[in-house]
Amino acid sequence: MTTLSIDWAKMDNLVPVVVQDYRSGQVLMLGYMNPEAMAVTIETKKVTFYSRSKQRLWTKGESSGNVLTLVEIGTDCDNDAILIQAVPEGPTCHLGNTSCFLENQPFLGQLASLVHARRDSEPQSSYTASLLQGNPRRVAQKVGEEGVEVALAAATNDKQNLIDETADLLYHLTVLLEQQQLPMTQVIDKLIERHK
Ligand code: AMP
Ligand code: ZN
Ligand code: ZN
Ligand code: ZN
Repeated sequence: MTTLSIDWAKMDNLVPVVVQDYRSGQVLMLGYMNPEAMAVTIETKKVTFYSRSKQRLWTKGESSGNVLTLVEIGTDCDNDAILIQAVPEGPTCHLGNTSCFLENQPFLGQLASLVHARRDSEPQSSYTASLLQGNPRRVAQKVGEEGVEVALAAATNDKQNLIDETADLLYHLTVLLEQQQLPMTQVIDKLIERHK
């Protein structure tokens, strides 16, 4: 964990905090911390702000249960803002949304949502729908083919082709995960676990 050297005096003891989902990178919310809120957050691993409206420490999720579990905490270049990476329990926004900032989902997440929405579309009008409603082996076969094409593009040093084939692979992999009803977040959790 980063050593924090926040310029509290410059900020009148109230520093803005951007909270990001550790797994997806999605920005979840903005809050403010005073020194006590930061100490409590590091001590309990539950992200705790100083609420200006409540005029007291506020642990996000204290009544809703939608807590933010701290993974990383750091400051910006001039020590007057905090970035927190956390694992959210449930939706972070009190309006029920994943993020307080709508429409800021990372693109691969948007793609997964779009692919999911194509499940029941007309297969004549959507390639994704035709893959999802067709023989399941076809999707697995496509992932295999695209993987080989990525390898060939790399072996022949063809950068433009490598971009195209990697895009094909990521798309078909997204369709495969949708078909298998396996959320991408479970795969990311596995990658994170291996780096502990
Ligand atoms: P919670 O901390 O989730 O138990 O919510 C307690 C109260 O804090 C809610 O009733 C809201 O007024 C407020 N609140 C919760 N989440 C947010 C948020 N992401 N941004 C601003 N206010 C929030
Ligand atoms: Zn700054
Ligand atoms: Zn919100
Ligand atoms: Zn291809």
